[in-house]
Amino acid sequence: MDVRCPSCGATFTISKDYLAQAITKAEKKKHKYHSVDCIRCRKQVKLPINDMRRFAAPMDEEE
Ligand SMILES: [Zn+2]
Repeated sequence: MDVRCPSCGATFTISKDYLAQAITKAEKKKHKYHSVDCIRCRKQVKLPINDMRRFAAPMDEEE
């Protein structure tokens, strides 16, 4: 999944394995977002769990 940092504009990719783990953790805690550290400026970038799910499991799922 490609992530773009809103602070510095850097783009980086997070793996499906990472996504799957992060989604599992977020669901346990009932979080709607997961934060990753920007590779360039180290600021936290918030990713909606719904977006992450789409990349981790590419299925058409209506909610
Ligand atoms: Zn950044």
